[in-house]
Amino acid sequence: MKITKKIRITKSKFIKVRCPKCNAEQIIFGKATTRVRCLKCGQSLTRPAASKAKIKAKVLEVFK
Ligand SMILES: [Zn+2]
Repeated sequence: MKITKKIRITKSKFIKVRCPKCNAEQIIFGKATTRVRCLKCGQSLTRPAASKAKIKAKVLEVFK
């Protein structure tokens, strides 16, 4: 079962992710350069990098 998939998102997109810890779904900004935490359990969903966010949660959907 694939839980965490490393995806690099370079364009400004909103993505729907699922928290790997509590399975809560959340919509985050794909280019977020700040740390995004799960609203429910506080698990980090992104790891901020220089110009792009590394998504640590499962990506369910990408909004254009
Ligand atoms: Zn969570």
